[in-house]
Amino acid sequence: MPKVREGTEEVERCPECGSRHLVRDYERGELLCEDCGLVIDDQFIDQGPEWRAFDVEQGEKRARTGAPMTYTIHDKGLSTEISWKNKDSYGKSIPTRNRAQLYRLRKWQRRIRVSNATERNLAFALSELDRMASAMGLPRNVRETAAMIYRKAVNKNLIRGRSIEGVVAASLYAACRQCGVPRTLDEVAGSSRVGRKEIGRTYRFMPRELKLKLMPTKPQDYVQRFCSELKLSGEVQNKAAEILKDASEKELTSGRGPTGVAAAAIYISSILCNERRTQREVADVAGVTEVTIRNRYKELTEKLGIEIQL
Ligand SMILES: [Zn+2]
Repeated sequence: MPKVREGTEEVERCPECGSRHLVRDYERGELLCEDCGLVIDDQFIDQGPEWRAFDVEQGEKRARTGAPMTYTIHDKGLSTEISWKNKDSYGKSIPTRNRAQLYRLRKWQRRIRVSNATERNLAFALSELDRMASAMGLPRNVRETAAMIYRKAVNKNLIRGRSIEGVVAASLYAACRQCGVPRTLDEVAGSSRVGRKEIGRTYRFMPRELKLKLMPTKPQDYVQRFCSELKLSGEVQNKAAEILKDASEKELTSGRGPTGVAAAAIYISSILCNERRTQREVADVAGVTEVTIRNRYKELTEKLGIEIQL
């Protein structure tokens, strides 16, 4: 079992979903949760203050690959730059007595530019948020919660060195949790312009840094959506809910990724109700691996005494 140091704690479980299925992506030096996809460690953690190391590295990576680092340069030459030279437009030196005024003007111009950029970034973020939320069919309260989380993230400077799209997606992911309609990282990534890893990497600091109160999600939260995506009947859905109820009474759900447990219960129910779906199909919808489903369904069938014909 890989161990990572985060602060002073040894982490063996995903802080997000409680899963013990952590995998190392050696190529990228990352520790990932196999169940929910959260990037738990990406090797910068031991190198001093987390945020700073993280931001610098991200910034450098972006600079190297040439992707836009921020949206702060927005006025593309449309505004009049007050030159740093103390010369007027004819090239004549500006008298010392007028220079103080010039300094003030420059200072104001900088301030105005910054606040314009902030406004513009916010407008862009909110439109991206709306686009994603409607693509995901999320209700109004989730959008509003996500907008609030996004603003908090900006105020806390969590946006620095990250893409606006990534922070928007992570805010939406957090908002779904907070509003009790959790979506998987895969689902959020499906409507985002950035990938699941970037979203997970951006999200992982949010609960702590923004003091968000997020209830742990339960496997039950996912059953209806996964079943409808798999085009399974209400019967399968009820059966899965029943299995999960028994499982939680026997404490078979704690410390395991909720999406993986939900997927396994659905897999079992689909077989019991003669609407069989493959492990692959269920895994894809739930955003977990087939190995996870296999482990969970073995555990559930054994400990709950369910017999299924494979
Ligand atoms: Zn997890």
